Amino acid sequence: MQKDSFQKFKKLLKNSQKIAIVTHWSPDGDAMGSSLGLYLFLLKLGKKVNVIVPNTYPEFLQWLPGNKQVLNFQENEARGTKILNSAELIFTLDFNSYKRLEKLGGILEKTSAPKVLIDHHQQPDKYATLYFHDVEACSTSELIYDFIVGLGEKKLIDKKIAACLYTGLMTDTGSFRYSCVTYKTHLILSELLKTGIVPSDIHSAVYDSYSFDRLKLLGFALNEKLKLVEGYPVAYFTLTEKELEKFNYQKGDVEGLVNYPFSIKGIKVCALFNESEGYVKISFRSKGKIDMNTFARNYFGGGGHINAAGGKSKDSLKDTENKFIELVKTLF
Ligand code: 5GP
Ligand code: MN
Repeated sequence: MQKDSFQKFKKLLKNSQKIAIVTHWSPDGDAMGSSLGLYLFLLKLGKKVNVIVPNTYPEFLQWLPGNKQVLNFQENEARGTKILNSAELIFTLDFNSYKRLEKLGGILEKTSAPKVLIDHHQQPDKYATLYFHDVEACSTSELIYDFIVGLGEKKLIDKKIAACLYTGLMTDTGSFRYSCVTYKTHLILSELLKTGIVPSDIHSAVYDSYSFDRLKLLGFALNEKLKLVEGYPVAYFTLTEKELEKFNYQKGDVEGLVNYPFSIKGIKVCALFNESEGYVKISFRSKGKIDMNTFARNYFGGGGHINAAGGKSKDSLKDTENKFIELVKTLF
């Protein structure tokens, strides 16, 4: 845990009018929930704020308050670069290494503005001026809640901010069921609910949003692509680009798929390998102390949390699968 004093955060905020918020490649519910929650809060402080994402994110997050103001760097590199170069302060949310931003990371690295890192992933790089980092936090959205409260501005958390933070908390905890969930998580949720947000509406907006093709893809993956590593409590999926195309693959369509094998009694490690934009995108999940962050870092150029990590492979899908089958055995 590395948390700078609120006195320092207050001073930095007081001296900055133009603020940019940046989150990671392929933003998920927590990336967008934390970024837009902070965005709406900073607007209420009277700041000029921009949210920049490295690439697009799933449609089931595009109802979030503030969504229309988000700048997709891939669609407008010139404007994104200009915003970052003229920002007086840059918040980096839900990631801790510029590598997680692809091309946008190179731009960010060259900017002179002070950076505030707010994140809950393992082993942060040392690029920031101030840190609000805690690997025990379930989500960056939870840290944004603590951040706002710590600044003495809890009263500014309205229904829109609460909807963003609730979404991040919900999606990063598998709807409040992972082991990182504590009484504190639920206290924060109850505070958010006081603003009038309707949990069932948010769950519906995010989860009852499958296309017909997405549900068929899930069925196909479960029925035909799920494999076990013989002799080990490990299950995984591989999906080729062709297979994904057959189901009219859209961004976010395999989100959550990696977790399904945990419903098989005894399974301790799950993985998903899918071909994406010229490489193999990898998701790892584990139960208990099995460390997928180190595994992803050591062997697949990635990282994340102990129980949820990701990475990439430039090898073929088959070679990546074989590499995984051999290496995963070393975890037991
Ligand atoms: P997911 O499997 O849902 O894409 O990611 C699981 C976790 O690992 C997330 O917290 C995500 O931020 C992190 N993660 C995913 N891919 C990468 C990667 O390539 N590098 C690093 N450092 N973290 C990743
Ligand atoms: Mn997160």
